Amino acid sequence: MKKRILITGAAGFLGSHLCDKFIQEGYEVIGMDNLITGDLRNIEHLFKLPEFEFYHHDVTKFVHVAGKLDYILHFASPASPIDYLKIPIQTLKVGSLGTHNLLGLAKEKNARILIASTSEVYGDPLVHPQNEDYYGNVNTIGPRGVYDEAKRFQESITMAYHRYHGLETRIVRIFNTYGPRMRLNDGRVIPAFIGQALRGEDLTVFGDGSQTRSFCYVDDQIDGIYRLLLSDYVYPINIGNPHEITIRDFAEEIIKLTGTDQKVVYKTLPEDDPMQRQPDITRAKDILGWEPKVSRSEGMQKTYEYFKGLTEEELHKSAH
Ligand code: NAD
Ligand code: UDP
Repeated sequence: MKKRILITGAAGFLGSHLCDKFIQEGYEVIGMDNLITGDLRNIEHLFKLPEFEFYHHDVTKFVHVAGKLDYILHFASPASPIDYLKIPIQTLKVGSLGTHNLLGLAKEKNARILIASTSEVYGDPLVHPQNEDYYGNVNTIGPRGVYDEAKRFQESITMAYHRYHGLETRIVRIFNTYGPRMRLNDGRVIPAFIGQALRGEDLTVFGDGSQTRSFCYVDDQIDGIYRLLLSDYVYPINIGNPHEITIRDFAEEIIKLTGTDQKVVYKTLPEDDPMQRQPDITRAKDILGWEPKVSRSEGMQKTYEYFKGLTEEELHKSAH
């Protein structure tokens, strides 16, 4: 009998790739999404498959699924800074109420649940690179606090369900991940820069561009999540690519990749924007035998090809 998995946030970037992965691995997949930041086009190719079902549902409301469930992946949440600044209350609710509902469902179905946490639990980190034992440096009342604290609460309630109810839980701390199906206007740096290059606009670097990020290609991320779900490990694990770059150098890389004549312009750094971010992936290597395989140049080439395939109309849709 096929294993049955519920994936929340299924119409989003990571959720849609997870749907593909689990269909490929022979699972029955239920995708759930309220489409607040997602797009059905990301999963429309799955609608014809008998192994795939879609529930249009907001997970902050009671979640019901008929029949057995073996696994739950909770990926529903706004994920880009401009999204969660625009819908802060929904962001807090999906991390808290939504997670509570899904933990309750997991308990009822005796299913294993993996929740999508984030490098943002480390806030603007004072430890570099960030390992899982670092408790973080988050401004609870700052504009990003709605996302960071929702995710920190999510981790706490997940561990409480594990300790108190004996639920099988997994926690992945995802570091910046990119690839096809990111939303061009979601404000994250990769779609922002590629979109600007394709529209012939200057690339907007926030601050002086000395802040760093480390970008993981989506196929590597999905492989790490898959391995974690099937492992025995209940504590958080970082999944990300440790190859770190400043945003200023990254803008130059994108100018080369796209062959644009545009230049870099500097804009105000958003409040609480972390100055550095790089995952320590020792735990993922030791416990999951996982490390990223796709170089930034290869991953960025594939991502650029995807964005080049969008229509003119999609390309010119303004950011919110
Ligand atoms: P995304 O915005 O593309 O996808 C999120 C999906 O969740 C969307 O389809 C949205 O409509 C859905 N959603 C939001 N609130 C919902 C609700 N209340 N009920 C049902 N569906 C809801 O974002 P993404 O990049 O795919 O991120 C997916 C998950 O991974 C998020 O939990 C995010 O916090 C986490 N994450 C992503 C990254 C990254 O780099 N992409 C990094 C860290 C963590
Ligand atoms: N950034 C930028 N220009 C943009 C969009 C983002 O310089 O047009 C910067 C942003 O300030 C941050 C980095 O790029 O320092 C990564 O931003 P993103 O929103 O992708 O992710 P996060 O801050 O959540 O890591």
